[in-house]
Amino acid sequence: MAPTESKEVLTKKLKELAEKNRWNIENRWGVSEQQDDAKRIADQLFALVNGESLEPISAEGQSTGDLSDTDFQGTFTPPDWQVEGDDFPIVGRKFSKAEFIEYVKWVKQKESYLWSPRGITMHHTGFPDLSIRPNGFTEQHMLNMRHGYKNDKGWSAGPHVFTDDHGIWVFNPLSRRGIHSVSYNSTRYAIEMLGNFNSEADYRKPRGKTIRENGMFAAAVLMKYAGISTAKLNFHRHDPETRKTCPGSNINFSDFEDAVLSIVEQV
Ligand SMILES: [Zn+2]
Repeated sequence: MAPTESKEVLTKKLKELAEKNRWNIENRWGVSEQQDDAKRIADQLFALVNGESLEPISAEGQSTGDLSDTDFQGTFTPPDWQVEGDDFPIVGRKFSKAEFIEYVKWVKQKESYLWSPRGITMHHTGFPDLSIRPNGFTEQHMLNMRHGYKNDKGWSAGPHVFTDDHGIWVFNPLSRRGIHSVSYNSTRYAIEMLGNFNSEADYRKPRGKTIRENGMFAAAVLMKYAGISTAKLNFHRHDPETRKTCPGSNINFSDFEDAVLSIVEQV
């Protein structure tokens, strides 16, 4: 069948794939996941050059084409991104649990992925902690964080999700690679839970518990509806390139993982 994409769209896809491949080869050739990714992209580039249509890249290299239109209920209208374009775009919007499920389904089906997420890394914000954000986040806080990451750290992206005691915030677009931990940026979604969970004070607060539960919920929804394996949850502190205790020394990994897996069964 003849490809339906315009020349402009195909050229854009070719450029994105070529850039991603160059990055993988230059920066992560020793990491088997990225080496596999680079090979898969090379195959896709050949397919494009040969005029075959290209299906979006998704987790584990499987096409997202297995989700038929009937799987998406079509009543959900996603919010506009707060910042669009290629210069550190952010969604910067808050979702209820129910809305987050619909949004993740919508992105999986409707946005074209510029990366192949296949895991989830949990973080805490550390700073700000609960006392600094007594009412959780606002849309302005999202813009402020973008400004900080961009101008103070020189980053071009950030973590995908933040949770507070009022909901689940999507920060970095889910269809794009984020920046959050050296070893996992190219393969894993990041979920940042508001609070400093090295501190008993934050950990014991009812707010802290709600925020962690929202983090668990967000992880479970990404597993179930964004095609992430239930075996691919970890903590920032598992990164051999960091000495941080993130997401906080009070949080036990296996307890956290068990709670996430039980939510996967329910959502
Ligand atoms: Zn972290």
